[in-house]
Amino acid sequence: MKNTKIIFATKNKGKLKEIKKIMSDKYEILSIEDAGIDIEIIEDGKTFEENALKKACSVMRQCNEIVLADDSGLEIDYLDKAPGIYSARYMGENTPYEVKNKKILELLEGVEEDKRTARFVCVIAASIPDYGTVTVRETIEGIIGYDIKGVNGFGYDPIFYLPERKKTTAELSMDEKNEISHRGKALRKMKKKLNDIMEKSL
Ligand code: IMP
Repeated sequence: MKNTKIIFATKNKGKLKEIKKIMSDKYEILSIEDAGIDIEIIEDGKTFEENALKKACSVMRQCNEIVLADDSGLEIDYLDKAPGIYSARYMGENTPYEVKNKKILELLEGVEEDKRTARFVCVIAASIPDYGTVTVRETIEGIIGYDIKGVNGFGYDPIFYLPERKKTTAELSMDEKNEISHRGKALRKMKKKLNDIMEKSL
């Protein structure tokens, strides 16, 4: 039987690789480019859920296939959960992460470990033709470290420290990170939900 087609509303090659690794056994995963869709979506929602749903639904209306979209970011408790939904745009979209990460370390200078709590959040939304929408949310809890450490991953990984592993997420291999990360967990949860929906509709 041919695998069910899913369009993942991202142009990010790293995210696409992750989703393919988790879902390709059951689903045929296409990026919006693979699906020949050219669309600019403005992320103007006030929550991760609103942004992920907007992306998934806008693309679904163009192709009438199952569409998944994610929205993610870093919440730092000491900074009132900033940068949050603005993580990619924090200090400007084109500002290098070495600069953003250094700035965050400065803002937290002298702050005790128990007040440095932070989490990566990932929301994945599915827009399913003739069914509706589903969202899942997962997080990974950690603290903002004291230095920039590690070369793997991307974005804020070099300052996101996991006390129980004594490593930042930039010091984990891709497989180690996927096993425990907000996005890895959310993708596996979404896969289960889709499997249930597909089984019920057969
Ligand atoms: P999105 O692509 O709109 O979901 O933006 C997510 C932003 O949140 C990224 O550009 C990063 O700044 C940050 N982010 C999300 N997940 C991670 C992660 O796993 N590691 C590091 N930074 C992340």
